[in-house]
Amino acid sequence: MNISEDHWQLREKIIELCLWMNSSGLNQGTSGNISARYENTMLITPSGVPYEQLKPQDIVSMSLDHNRYEWDGAYVPSSEWHFHRAILQSNPDFGAVVHTHSTYATVLSMARIKIPACHYMIAAFGGNTIRCSKYATFGTPKLSKNILKAMKKRSGCLMANHGMVVAGKNLDKAMWGAVELETISKQYYLASQLDKMVVLSDDEIERVIAKFANYGPRDKCDSPDDTNSQGNNAQGLNPKTNHAAGSNSTNGTGNPSPSNQDRQKYEYKNATPNIKLPNS
Ligand code: 13P
Ligand code: ZN
Repeated sequence: MNISEDHWQLREKIIELCLWMNSSGLNQGTSGNISARYENTMLITPSGVPYEQLKPQDIVSMSLDHNRYEWDGAYVPSSEWHFHRAILQSNPDFGAVVHTHSTYATVLSMARIKIPACHYMIAAFGGNTIRCSKYATFGTPKLSKNILKAMKKRSGCLMANHGMVVAGKNLDKAMWGAVELETISKQYYLASQLDKMVVLSDDEIERVIAKFANYGPRDKCDSPDDTNSQGNNAQGLNPKTNHAAGSNSTNGTGNPSPSNQDRQKYEYKNATPNIKLPNS
């Protein structure tokens, strides 16, 4: 396989985030998986291989152009390739997917709970709830179908008796979302012990979604009324510092435009997972 530099870096970044996901306590063992879009392919972790052993060449590549069980690589792809591929195919703005069995999200998923607007950060996932997908056996097309339904107009969901899944513009945003979903799950679980919980109105969540479009530090040259970043809400905050975010532009084929890909290259190279877990 002829692998370009940015392709190789994306593979390295997947491994970096797998290691981080476990060392931070967000995930454990090999009970999670990560994928990223590279051109018309999906790069995904192999099934059951301890992350410490992973090398860039072990990351598996699958086409996004069809739904056949075919791949490039020495190992078989993650057993959850169905839903990773379906999520990436469902929205050209999704560049990466993170699946974890993080504790609080999984606890709520065992009760098959839909998280209400108990905190305004729920708006970062695109709406006023985070749904829980119906149960199906891991690694099945049925699970993939259930997840796509639960993620309608959302960038993440809980998965009944299993865990959670979050998509984002790129790997860092998907991981940011996974941490955020675990945080909200923990907060909701703890607040549920109290007698009273106030849920935010739909209007308020709409306002927050609109506000997120302009949230974050600005470059000096950014005009205050630059609302060019609309549509980013379901994929993470801070569109102004992260230049790939907020742009929905495609080159007409549904694939990110070349300029977006260049920006992604920059992000993958420079980003470090500086993310704090709710229980750290
Ligand atoms: P893989 O090791 O096949 O990625 O499976 C882990 C998992 O989380 C299944 O749901
Ligand atoms: Zn799983």
